[in-house]
Amino acid sequence: MKAITYLFILSLIIGGCGITSKTTKNNRNTVDDFATTIRKEDLKKHLEILASDEYEGRETAMPGQKKAAKYIADYFAEIGLEKGVNDTSYFQKFPVDVRDPKRVSLRINGEKLQFLKDFYYFGSFNDTLLTQKDIVYVNYGIDSPGYSDYKDIDVRNKVVLVREGIPENQPINEGWKNWRKKVEAAQEHGALAVISIKDNFEENVARVGFFIQNPRMQLHNKGMKDKKKLIPYFYISPKKAQEILSINASSTPNKVVGKVDIDLNINQVLESDNVLGFLEGTDKKDEIVVITAHYDHLGYDNGEVCNGADDDGSGTVAVLELAQAFMEAKKAGATPRRSVLFMTVSGEEKGLLGSEYYTKNPVYPLEKTVVDLNIDMIGRIDNNHQDNNYVYLIGSDKISSDLHEISEKVNAEKTKLVLDYTYNDEDDPNRFYYRSDHYNFAKNGIPVIFYFSGVHEDYHKPTDDVEKIDFEKIQKTARLVFYTAWEVANRDERLNTKH
Ligand SMILES: [Zn+2]
Repeated sequence: MKAITYLFILSLIIGGCGITSKTTKNNRNTVDDFATTIRKEDLKKHLEILASDEYEGRETAMPGQKKAAKYIADYFAEIGLEKGVNDTSYFQKFPVDVRDPKRVSLRINGEKLQFLKDFYYFGSFNDTLLTQKDIVYVNYGIDSPGYSDYKDIDVRNKVVLVREGIPENQPINEGWKNWRKKVEAAQEHGALAVISIKDNFEENVARVGFFIQNPRMQLHNKGMKDKKKLIPYFYISPKKAQEILSINASSTPNKVVGKVDIDLNINQVLESDNVLGFLEGTDKKDEIVVITAHYDHLGYDNGEVCNGADDDGSGTVAVLELAQAFMEAKKAGATPRRSVLFMTVSGEEKGLLGSEYYTKNPVYPLEKTVVDLNIDMIGRIDNNHQDNNYVYLIGSDKISSDLHEISEKVNAEKTKLVLDYTYNDEDDPNRFYYRSDHYNFAKNGIPVIFYFSGVHEDYHKPTDDVEKIDFEKIQKTARLVFYTAWEVANRDERLNTKH
């Protein structure tokens, strides 16, 4: 903090005059008039809609996300923003590979098992369809030099049933407790899949259920991360193993115990959308100022809607109000010199997918993109602060020193928030710099600021609701973003970069 305060004072001394004032048609409107059109009442009106149950937690590629995209695009149209994608659409559509684990079908001896109740599984397996395959019980499924469960057993073209752990008093490496080793051994012996009887099944489901039931997504055609493709691997409850296969800890291995059908054709290609509204600049219109927030969230958690009022409903409604403020400026004859792209992205919660797609398929050249100001979670007060007069800034000084100075200066003159750089520290274990959409721009050498007010007890829970939002806080932060964007869009020089 000290070094930053010193730099800030220095920049005031050498920086000279205040923020760019543009002459307007009637010479009465100032930048402050536009900034003050960002109002907490309007933010609230938008957020009460976008974070309502009707929007079903806005999960990427799902109906709630589509609905939110439409709301945003309708608002962009209402305030007169141009369609951001080649003048023809507000939507940049992108395909995502969706793997929904709930779609898998596992049938043993004719009985269909219930996902999370009788069985579960992790991971990214290839599409697989197995019909009426023998299940062979091989005990622990270990195949080591001093001890092998595969002696005299032919598991080729069969599905292997194992139990967890390793036997006592045997010369077996601890490494065999690892599921992967057992799956690899089964695969080497020609098995088609592995079913493991899971100790403490219910406790494990309670612990990992939320994580494993949510669809995995990635940009279409990206290729699987796990290069060495493993055969499918399932956990079943000891109760079901006993019930339908008559297998328990004292059962004798080496025999066929039943038949299984597995349908793992769960991959779908769905479509998601970034929503782009564009305001064309005047004499420097080829240069683009980008303002982003992600409007997608997590969907449902065990039947409860995760409304994502803070994450990132707060950033989304800030972008709507920022767009509206810039359009007020345009109406008053104070169109910014550079163009401004207002972009709400989706796929963030699935791994920054929307911003990854945009930066790989940019509608406006990245070389001409001068900044990305990204807003993600600015509606709550975290435990490190007593009041709402603060915001964490992350990344402002990493790529452009101009950007950092402008941000400090407009805040000192206008918004007077406490700018907290705790998470800007390279060594901060939270690594927030890598965790929201600005990172895809930063990767491309584009200066960024990530605006953030920290995590809280409702983070990624169904209780992240609109009642808990501090709208004055969003208003303050959005105005800081406005003044910063205004300065970057209107100054003579393009922002410098260190690279
Ligand atoms: Zn999130």
